[in-house]
Parts: sequence; structure tokens; C-alpha cells
Amino acid sequence: MAKKNKEKIPYYPYPEAKIICSCGNIMKVGSTVKEMFVEICSKCHPFFTGAQKLIDTHGRLERFKERLAKKMEIDAKKKKNKKSSD
Ligand SMILES: [Zn+2]
Repeated sequence: MAKKNKEKIPYYPYPEAKIICSCGNIMKVGSTVKEMFVEICSKCHPFFTGAQKLIDTHGRLERFKERLAKKMEIDAKKKKNKKSSD
């Protein structure tokens, strides 16, 4: 019985591998790789934090806002041109 349980324990070449999250959290777990980078972890995932907001890891939201602003500007100009040509 004891022997069977021993066989079930998985072997990790790196018993203290670093899991580095983009939020800055570092976890140490047994893994087959020395280091691993993740975008989201249990410390910053909305499911665990209870937050209902989006996490902007790489300024994606800012870039979207910029693009939206530019498009609005262009649309406004187009409308103006149409009015003046009529
Ligand atoms: Zn995290």
C-alpha cells in the first residue's frame, strides 16, 4: 500500500520553479521548467480578487481609446466636409 502511494508522487526536476506573473506576483511550485511567465494568477484574477474590472496588462485599453478618439476625429471632419460641400 505504502509503495503504491509513493509511485503516484510526480517527479519535478524543479521542485521550486518560479512562476512569475505580470502583476508582480511570484509563486514557487514544482514544475518541469525552471521559470514560467504568466499573464494572470490567483492574486490578480478577477475571479479571486472579486473585482469586476478589466485588467489592462499591456496598455491595450489605452491604445483602443486612442484609436477610438482618432476615428471620432476623422468622422467629425468627414461630416464637416460633407456639410460644406452641400
Ligand atoms: Zn498575477
